[in-house]
Amino acid sequence: MKNFYIETFGCQMNAHDSEKVIGTLIGEGYSQVPTPEEAQLVLYNTCSIRDKAEQKVFNRLQQFKRNHKDKKIVLLGCVAQQEGERVFERAPFVSMVCGSASYNQLPAMLVQLETGNKRVTGLSLDTEDTFDTPLTRRENPHRAYITIIEGCDKSCAYCVVPFTRGPERSRTSTSVLDEARRLADAGYSEIQLLGQNVNSYRDPSPTGWDFAQLLDAVGRVEGIRRVRFTTSHPRDFVKPIIDAIDENPNLCNHVHLPVQSGSTRVLDAMRRLYTRDQYMRRIEWMKAARRDIAITTDIIVGFPGETESDFEETLSLLREVEFDALFGFKYSRRPNTPALALDDQIPEEEKTRRLQFVLDMQREIQLRRHASYVGRVEECLVEGFNKATGQWIGRTSQHKTLNFLRPASADDLLGQYVDVRVTRAGANSLVGECVN
Ligand code: SAM
Ligand code: SF4
Repeated sequence: MKNFYIETFGCQMNAHDSEKVIGTLIGEGYSQVPTPEEAQLVLYNTCSIRDKAEQKVFNRLQQFKRNHKDKKIVLLGCVAQQEGERVFERAPFVSMVCGSASYNQLPAMLVQLETGNKRVTGLSLDTEDTFDTPLTRRENPHRAYITIIEGCDKSCAYCVVPFTRGPERSRTSTSVLDEARRLADAGYSEIQLLGQNVNSYRDPSPTGWDFAQLLDAVGRVEGIRRVRFTTSHPRDFVKPIIDAIDENPNLCNHVHLPVQSGSTRVLDAMRRLYTRDQYMRRIEWMKAARRDIAITTDIIVGFPGETESDFEETLSLLREVEFDALFGFKYSRRPNTPALALDDQIPEEEKTRRLQFVLDMQREIQLRRHASYVGRVEECLVEGFNKATGQWIGRTSQHKTLNFLRPASADDLLGQYVDVRVTRAGANSLVGECVN
């Protein structure tokens, strides 16, 4: 029996790609094993968004080389695409590299690997295809990812994604809705629509739906109670998306809208295609919505040429918006990207100082915001149980973690929706008591 082990690095797109790769491998007669030691075929689905992520992959390969000389090793994903055949020089024990735009070719590539080819490649970005397969093996029994658009047509100056995932390709609304219906029939109640820029979704079939129309339709699939989406690009984020959330309670009241910087000058240098004022207009739409929409963001500190006063503008934007959560990153130089040519790199210690400042300030904001949740009753999807604390782990529609006790009951609540009254608030999570 042929078997494989897979380890995934990076974002939700990669996590979901791995679910599809696992399904494909099982369809080809392989079985999955939980450790690399047991496996004949070892796959790493890699991330190259920042230098650290890429280093992690090569460190893992080095460790592996020492222990397991007899296995076939495959590099998938963004590092595979970015480094291409150079991987065979850097890590000669790797025998296949395949970027995400070539996953459709995996079955044929596996045959080449099995017949002893030691340098199998799938590196073409020249595709109009998306990788949708009914064979997906989903990890989570309640929340399912659906890719609606692959690749990215933006060219943010710092970002490798357009080079590693290729041009944008949208799936037809029919195939997305069919998948959503199949998932509902299989017992999933939450769907997360995925893409590097979901807002530029455009149905390639004559229906011609935009993202707001697709979102609304997925939210109306019978049996689906929650729909999330990530990631939104501010330039393509339009008011009808908020109108859809207002109209349809199955659409979660949470929007992740990465701003990257509060300085229009830096946004321009980053080629983000919007100004601070344009971003703030989208925030105003959300704050004026009927539903209480949680807003989260990504920030990059220390982009080349970012002055102290640019950084102050980022801080003032954070104070003005009061995001519900934030992912902060130090700018990392990436191969092929336009920002590589920029002078005026910010020293590492200064990037560290700026990032820490952002995170400390955001923590205070979250503590203050979350304190106002005490006394509120929130519907939670129960996602886990913490044996150490005896608490169930719930997720609100706003994507906040709400840990709660349910008195005198050993019922298995996993996957159920319960109402929880918030009794305490921390910066990163809430605590409460089940009221039903
Ligand atoms: N497509 C999404 C977008 O436009 O926001 C997500 C792209 S990326 C997977 C997630 C985040 O990583 C970005 O929002 C950005 O903050 C960060 N990022 C991307 N490239 C980076 C770089 N070179 N250095 C530091 N952070 C980076
Ligand atoms: Fe990267 Fe910009 Fe595309 Fe997001 S929109 S994936 S940051 S190029």
